[in-house]
Amino acid sequence: MKKIIISLFIFICGLFILSSCNKNDDTKIISTSYAGYDFARGVAKDNKKCGMLLNPGEELHDYSPSINDIERIINSEIFIYIGGESDSLWVEKQILPEIDKSKTKVISMMDVISKKGNVYDEENPESSISSESDEEEELDEHVWNSITNAKLIVEAIYEALIEIDEVNMASYLYNKDVYIDSLNKVDTKIKDTISSSKKDLLIFADRFPLLYFVKEYNLKYDAAFKGCETAHEANPKTIEALTKKVIDNDINVIFVIELSESNIADTVIKTCKNDGKDVKKLVFYTMHNISKEDYANGLTYIDFMNKNVESLSEALN
Ligand SMILES: [Zn+2]
Repeated sequence: MKKIIISLFIFICGLFILSSCNKNDDTKIISTSYAGYDFARGVAKDNKKCGMLLNPGEELHDYSPSINDIERIINSEIFIYIGGESDSLWVEKQILPEIDKSKTKVISMMDVISKKGNVYDEENPESSISSESDEEEELDEHVWNSITNAKLIVEAIYEALIEIDEVNMASYLYNKDVYIDSLNKVDTKIKDTISSSKKDLLIFADRFPLLYFVKEYNLKYDAAFKGCETAHEANPKTIEALTKKVIDNDINVIFVIELSESNIADTVIKTCKNDGKDVKKLVFYTMHNISKEDYANGLTYIDFMNKNVESLSEALN
């Protein structure tokens, strides 16, 4: 994180010295991550060009902004960031003071949820904090993976849009209602899938940015890592514990998250096979970022949640 701050200081100095490039970028809504980008384009449609700072395929938790990225934020009309460990430090310390709030509306997804819903402590998932906390660094930032939270963030983007572009209010209202309706439909599919399933336990041989999702649907889970630590190596005890859980609970699917190297899952699957248990590996999409191919195909948050429903159906039966 210190490296990011130092690089940012250099970048911001460079920004004001150069004050050049990228005059032709007409992106009006910028999100640091994929989920915010998709929510924004769902509401804005053709009225405002939306973009994300991550390149498709790039790891969210390793990201640091370029001078060009900072300029895109400063020149945007709406800037959406997560507000958690991934980006709150560089955004709130380095970017927000440079933003002209009369020209750029700023939305922190964590702030939206902490004001209207529950945020969870990554280290202590059973405790929820329903108001803003000084200990934001410890809170689970993956708020967008709950459909209820996704709806609140979509509403916040809609509110910002109608403030800056009242003329197109009817269009934004229509688009927002269509998006919320799609979220409600996928929510119903998830609930139906879970209620008609035989099991209620998900195994993630990977990072676990899905606390909000499992809490929303009362699912049990076990994972190689708490939250979204960027460490990709699991110790032998973790592999052993996951393997035991799979065999004891007759689990047929092990999940990894998108863009994962899957090393831990492959090891668990191999260990299970040695014990006579065949297990399948499936991707659960957590919408940090998406692959270049999925980006080129224009896949949406709703598309990925629908893929998740298919995988859930397989994993829970
Ligand atoms: Zn994460």
